[in-house]
Amino acid sequence: MTTLTPVLSAHWDADRAWKLARYEADGGYRGLRRALAMAPADVVTAVKESGLRGRGGAGFPTGMKWGFLPAPDGGPRYLVVNADESEPGTCKDIPLMMASPQELIEGVIITSYAIGCHHAFIYVRGEVVHVYRRLLESVREAREAGYLGTDILGSGFDLEITVHAGAGAYICGEETALLDSLEGLRGQPRLKPPFPAVAGLYARPTVVNNVESVASVPGILVGGADWFTSMGTERSAGHGLFSLSGHVTRPGQYEAPLGITLRELLDMAGGVREGHRLKFWTPGGSSTPIFTDAHLDVPLDYESVGKAGSMLGTRALQIFDETTSVVKAVSRWIQFYKHESCGKCTPCREGTFWLAQIMARLEAGQGTAADIDLLLDLCDNILGRAFCALGDGATSPVTSAIQYFREEFEAGTHTPADVLFPPERSSLF
Ligand code: NAD
Repeated sequence: MTTLTPVLSAHWDADRAWKLARYEADGGYRGLRRALAMAPADVVTAVKESGLRGRGGAGFPTGMKWGFLPAPDGGPRYLVVNADESEPGTCKDIPLMMASPQELIEGVIITSYAIGCHHAFIYVRGEVVHVYRRLLESVREAREAGYLGTDILGSGFDLEITVHAGAGAYICGEETALLDSLEGLRGQPRLKPPFPAVAGLYARPTVVNNVESVASVPGILVGGADWFTSMGTERSAGHGLFSLSGHVTRPGQYEAPLGITLRELLDMAGGVREGHRLKFWTPGGSSTPIFTDAHLDVPLDYESVGKAGSMLGTRALQIFDETTSVVKAVSRWIQFYKHESCGKCTPCREGTFWLAQIMARLEAGQGTAADIDLLLDLCDNILGRAFCALGDGATSPVTSAIQYFREEFEAGTHTPADVLFPPERSSLF
């Protein structure tokens, strides 16, 4: 039986957990002291050896990403923390920043020291004004205590942090759109390569890391790579926040080793709400193919979830019981993608528009017999052809829901095709 491993969330329930003094009393900033006594390259090695993988969804090895930065050329290099958490169902970074902002700030300082950055940015989504205020206050507290500014803790290392609030666009969580937005441009994705590691903010080498990834770094410095790899699986090491929401008795954040199963997490969360049973769920937000009750025992690590046909993503476990119409749920998600598509590329801009139209008529029971194949054909034309991951993500709930619940889509196709599209009107299309 896997047990919870509260590390990031260990002190979230403490009185005024977000205050610097509280964080220090609980052992905070030990990781920074340890890092500053090491050579920057050794800090990078420690994080590489820990096997920490990006917690924003893609799971790219964090230490390897740091190692991609070219050799110093005397010019600036940046750390940008992606705090633009917006994936439907994803709600882990915001509580982390509210309850334990110093953990993130300590991680920012260690990461910046490791990669030779002297100006770091935290890009937080615009709607969460309370998080923005908390971060501003916490950065101020850290600076007054000598953790930021010049000659940090007498090490000779200098760092400033700018907290920047976006304007509330899902696309700005895509790392290159985020960088454009930070530069004052309209947030739209850039062509990759070059990756930000080579040409990022202001075309300078830049590491873009998720909040939870960066906040995990102090613990690795204190506990060591062996401690971190003692949790999780061989290729998906460590602890992570699993966010349970929806039809579950005790929704919330459950910090556990990667590789835990939904069955185990549901046991801890009191199960599916009383009197109901699990119908479907997302392993990592709406951009990951849905799972059903057949997947309760899939270990929630990158490899196992991938093998079972989905992605671990952001570990946003949205639970839906048998009272939920899968067609309605998918239709809501597709409306979201249509609304948030930045419009830069045709497959995503037009594709999400058409997906939304078809889903709406299926939801209204006015679909045609051809609609299911049309949905699949549209998804086929978006997947792998969109400019960034937004388009691909939009297809995941559609194709997986049809795979597992085709009969519910068929039930939405009551209207014969020739009523919706009479031959005399066909010239309009
Ligand atoms: P990606 O796999 O393209 O890249 C992941 C990271 O690795 C990026 O930082 C990228 O720069 C880096 N990288 C990859 N190859 C590299 C190389 N050869 N050299 C240097 N760096 C390299 O994934 P992505 O498009 O950044 O992210 C997609 C993921 O985002 C999805 O899996 C989804 O789960 C997640 N997501 C999260 C949220 C959220 O709110 N947290 C929202 C939407 C999507």
